[in-house]
Amino acid sequence: MSSDRVIIFDTTLRDGEQSPGCSMNTAEKLEIAAALIELGVDVIEAGFPIASPGDFEAVQTIARQFGDRGPKICGLARCRDEDIDRAGAALAEAKNRRLHVFLATSSIHRQFKLKMEKPEIIQRAVESVARAKTFCDDIEFSPEDAARTELDFLTEVVEKAIEAGATTVNIPDTVGYATPSHYFKVISHLKNNVRNIDRAVISTHCHDDLGLGVANSLAALEAGARQVECTINGLGERAGNAALEEIVMALRTRQDYYHLTTGINTKRLCAVSRLVSKITGMIVQRNKAIVGQNAFAHEAGIHQHGMLQERTTYEIMRPEDVGFTGSNLVLGKHSGRHAFRDRIVNLGYDLDEKTFATIFDDFIALCDKKKNVYDADIAALVENRVVEAPDRWKLVSYHTSAGTGNIPMATVQLQEDGKPPVCDAAIGDGPVDAVFNALDRITGIDAKLQNYQVRSLTVGKEAQGEALVEIVAHDQVFHGKAASTDVIEASAHAYLRALNKAAASPHTGRPLHAQHE
Ligand code: MN
Repeated sequence: MSSDRVIIFDTTLRDGEQSPGCSMNTAEKLEIAAALIELGVDVIEAGFPIASPGDFEAVQTIARQFGDRGPKICGLARCRDEDIDRAGAALAEAKNRRLHVFLATSSIHRQFKLKMEKPEIIQRAVESVARAKTFCDDIEFSPEDAARTELDFLTEVVEKAIEAGATTVNIPDTVGYATPSHYFKVISHLKNNVRNIDRAVISTHCHDDLGLGVANSLAALEAGARQVECTINGLGERAGNAALEEIVMALRTRQDYYHLTTGINTKRLCAVSRLVSKITGMIVQRNKAIVGQNAFAHEAGIHQHGMLQERTTYEIMRPEDVGFTGSNLVLGKHSGRHAFRDRIVNLGYDLDEKTFATIFDDFIALCDKKKNVYDADIAALVENRVVEAPDRWKLVSYHTSAGTGNIPMATVQLQEDGKPPVCDAAIGDGPVDAVFNALDRITGIDAKLQNYQVRSLTVGKEAQGEALVEIVAHDQVFHGKAASTDVIEASAHAYLRALNKAAASPHTGRPLHAQHE
């Protein structure tokens, strides 16, 4: 690769999955991996094979299905023989594969976690890189907590790892401690003092504990790093990792300054962001850079005036360059089937005829309830219908009564395939709780509501409400999401969807916690 090309290493499926409540099953990881390939990332870190049988299976399946599609498929391992062997086995079927080994090097980690002295650390790193090399040529080595490691020791470890065969040396700011000028100095020091540095690519892995993940990554690129590890929507441990979409758009928007390029198809950024949000249940904050709902909303009159004269007065990026679909007014009742199909395709969905026909009917029904239909509404219509598991129960009808001084109550009617409808009623703390209780009674599933959120999809009083539900059943986490102009109906559908998933696949939900260290 040329010296101005930055390698985008996506770790949404590994570090991103370590976000609290964001563990994913293999099918969900495959869906994200396919989207990352379309997005154009260079490396997909698919998981940590030794962590659990589920992690191993996910890495192996991704390696098998996508290992010859372009990006390197990467598996993570500690510097231990059994870890490395397990990662090697998981990756074996990928033509394009990378093994990533890590070992902590900072004095705090050496003293308290590893209880190892410096020479032992170096020896272990060298032996592990050499062992990994027997499984593939492309080896990445990470001195964990590098940002808090003594510079002279870091220099020595990195040099020895390259000597042993590492082709990428990743310098992680594991705990989000670095600042841009500090991190610039660390990378520059390595660039100038590691004697064999020209034989490896320098990589960054920055966490956002101080809100500096992206800034630190950019500083490292300026100092000569050519790989960035990042995640969609900035998912990851604690405050998360550097956000892929922010780094990519910073490099693209400030091409005049950095003179660096990536292989990312930026028009896919919003679609991938939506997919990751849907699968993990982690809502993207409204004012999130690049992919947030307000990212391109110009509110102040003086800004709007300027925009009308010339877009670039206040706009540094065009919404269409990131596939932004926030509040673009697109369609109304008279738009017709053809225009609707165009929008669906532009939003990145690929629907069969039958599904398309159903969603078009939903669209016409929605137009009766709300005058303006935005892209975000259309995305919700598709997501309402396209579900991973076939629904065992369908909501036929519901009724609630609630108000000051009354006990909130709900009656719900569900239909199970080929059976007569079943009706039940329940009380609750409020109408939504009452509906959930009635759904529990009919389905007989012992579910615990863990998270429940409602947000407005677009603007105005008539906007659709999107409900997001996370339940725990059979010790596993299931998500449900649905949208409607009636938030109680949206909540009922979202909750029932999560119950349906729990019923359909009692053993394939997500484990309660990611199984990583
Ligand atoms: Mn990390």
